[in-house]
Amino acid sequence: MNKLTIDQIDLAGKRVFIRVDFNVPMTENGTIREETRITAAIPTIRRALEKGGRIILASHFGRPEGKIMPEYSLRPVAERLSQLLGQPVALAPDCIGDAVEQMVNALQPGQIILLENVRFHAGETKNNPQLADAFARLADVVVNDAFGAAHRAHASNVGIAQRVTPAVAGLLMADEINYFNRAVRHPQRPVAAILGGSKVSTKIAVIERLLAQVDMILLGGAMAFTFFKARGQTVGSSLVEDEMLQVARDAEEQARARGVKLLLPVDAVIATSPSSTTTQIVSIDAIPEGWMGLDIGPATIQLFQQALQTAATIVWNGPMGVFEKPAFANGTLALAEAVAQCSALSVAGGGDTDAALRQAGVADRISFISTGGGAFMELLEGKELPGIAVLNDA
Ligand code: ADP
Ligand code: MG
Repeated sequence: MNKLTIDQIDLAGKRVFIRVDFNVPMTENGTIREETRITAAIPTIRRALEKGGRIILASHFGRPEGKIMPEYSLRPVAERLSQLLGQPVALAPDCIGDAVEQMVNALQPGQIILLENVRFHAGETKNNPQLADAFARLADVVVNDAFGAAHRAHASNVGIAQRVTPAVAGLLMADEINYFNRAVRHPQRPVAAILGGSKVSTKIAVIERLLAQVDMILLGGAMAFTFFKARGQTVGSSLVEDEMLQVARDAEEQARARGVKLLLPVDAVIATSPSSTTTQIVSIDAIPEGWMGLDIGPATIQLFQQALQTAATIVWNGPMGVFEKPAFANGTLALAEAVAQCSALSVAGGGDTDAALRQAGVADRISFISTGGGAFMELLEGKELPGIAVLNDA
């Protein structure tokens, strides 16, 4: 995974089609609730401007189901982006078609146009060839900066890149690829993986892949209780996936066979339900009937902290407890602080993991937090992402 980037190609006077991820969360009255995805694309846009490009931006936004729906217009994004960049950002009436082609061809170097939502056309998510042809007519160069959509083969990321050369990574995409390579593909050892979250079933492929790549796994979250039950221990009413018990046993066996250290919690913060605030800290083998483990306890935090200190590289996916509730957030927050303090290269990803690290206030002390939940998980599973595979090799 070593791809050409925007820094390695000539953009002067070219129509530079930049696929970004402007799929921002909105409030009920149609204002932008969280603009990280817009600010994350700005370095690439500025670089393309500096290099004399004529800038065409394209993104999906919500699920308009292949129809033009005003509530899924990118207008609020165009307005905000224009403020952030301090220059006009024209909004095209659509993302393809004669009128749009005329607007694009009239662009001067240093000018920016944002195409309307690419999902106004049903062919987008089907990577329809005619739609991809229509996108390709707008571009001399393709830059993909939408890592969050890279696990999907759609017309505006994959179809267009199959038709236009060069097709290269933007700065955000290049960072995602680089940090993933450094943390998982060619890491400095020892490598520690922190794995958590609610379900073993959604993480089987990640667990199996990491067992083959890393030196130790620190496993917390609800997932740990499926492992304990598989060992024949009692877990009270903690979340367990009974159909995953064999998977857990196999993972433990794999870890033994490969010499991977698999660390499980030694204590837990328990309550009778996630909405209860009456908690106790107990040894992991002493969870009473009717009580559930909802966070890792202080002894586990210490155990995990010590293990992390020996790591040269840390990969993290999944919270250690129900961090959304203050009563069960401490384990995740304490571990976030521990990772932030480590000198190891640290790479984290996953929708909830990202939220937890921001909540912990450590985001700027983690080497890299992936911007793509689903795409990051597929990379961790060892899959090739179509949106990256299609880009020109360096
Ligand atoms: P990510 O989105 O980072 O991949 P997941 O979606 O796998 O993470 O897991 C996050 C969810 O796991 C959170 O909603 C959290 O409340 C839940 N969770 C973590 N630990 C527990 C637990 N002990 N019991 C129940 N739910 C848990
Ligand atoms: Mg999640």
